[in-house]
Amino acid sequence: MLGSGILHATTFHKKLVTGTLICFLTTHVHAGVVLLYHHVDEKTPAITSIAPDQFNRHLDIIEAEGFTVLPLDELVKRSMDVSRETEKNDDKIVAITFDDAYRSIYSTAFPNLQARGWPFTIFVSTRLIEQKNPHYLTWAQLAEMSMHGATIANHTDSHTHMIRRLDAELADQWRDRMRGELLTAKNLLGKHGLDSNLFAYPYGEYDEEILNLVGDLGMIGFGQQSGAIGPHSNPLILPRYPLAGVYVGEAAFRDKLRSLPFPVLHPEVEPLVSDNFKPSLELSFTNDSLNLSRLTCYGPGGLMTLSETSGTKVLARPTKEVSVGRTRYNCTLPKGNRFYWFSQLWIRKQSDGSWYHEP
Ligand SMILES: [Zn+2]
Repeated sequence: MLGSGILHATTFHKKLVTGTLICFLTTHVHAGVVLLYHHVDEKTPAITSIAPDQFNRHLDIIEAEGFTVLPLDELVKRSMDVSRETEKNDDKIVAITFDDAYRSIYSTAFPNLQARGWPFTIFVSTRLIEQKNPHYLTWAQLAEMSMHGATIANHTDSHTHMIRRLDAELADQWRDRMRGELLTAKNLLGKHGLDSNLFAYPYGEYDEEILNLVGDLGMIGFGQQSGAIGPHSNPLILPRYPLAGVYVGEAAFRDKLRSLPFPVLHPEVEPLVSDNFKPSLELSFTNDSLNLSRLTCYGPGGLMTLSETSGTKVLARPTKEVSVGRTRYNCTLPKGNRFYWFSQLWIRKQSDGSWYHEP
């Protein structure tokens, strides 16, 4: 049993999974990488910041590695649509995203992206813009950037922890509140001519019900778990690489940029752990020609214990419990000078059942 429950694949997802048969009969490789930044600033909290010269270094590497920077919706389409006829591999495509709409996107990142003619996406919590908070972009700045290659997308209205129910809140009330978060942001963006069906989960947190809600509203959802997008990805919880703090180094950045979607049929696993704090993760590979002896997974306590349960299935077990807050298991498998990359989020409440504090 994986985690505390397996999510039902959406119809869209099922269609894509069926389509994978085609994928492995063609020689084309589909792989899309999405980068996630917040502040591009030296004076803001390190955990959500990258220094401007390091950010520019990332842009230089993208160019030097021969990657094409695409608008986010096009990257999703090209990396997931196995039926698409392509002249060449779609395995060097990348999209640049920013969460939270901080001012430094306009003052520091935008001029550099505009000079290169590169598109990018900003996920906006609309209430913070409406309140004219000086740390955040203005509607005028968002509109200006949208005229020059930016997609302005949904990050809820209030930047709430979506999976957290309020005290005494009934399930229906919570669902209505979350629907309101999504639709208020959507409507405000639309009012400013910035309509988009792209959505990013605040803090990268989700559960089964949230994914269903996002799917019901016809949105494409992005998390903060690492990995590349491919034909098997779930369009409700697509991976992105958070690039801030200690995770901005150039060698690691190159590995992430070059990463490939794990050829694994990953049933989406409910991330919230409530009784088993050492959840194992079963990876079910789509073909048996991979050399799984080079598979490595890292989790709490470091290297995870791997056991092959069949020719195409591996069970990864952590050596320690997942800690309170958010934890991720990261699995990689080398392929030439690139890595297949997969990450699974886990969420654990405090021992008294209350939610952890955000740093
Ligand atoms: Zn955010």
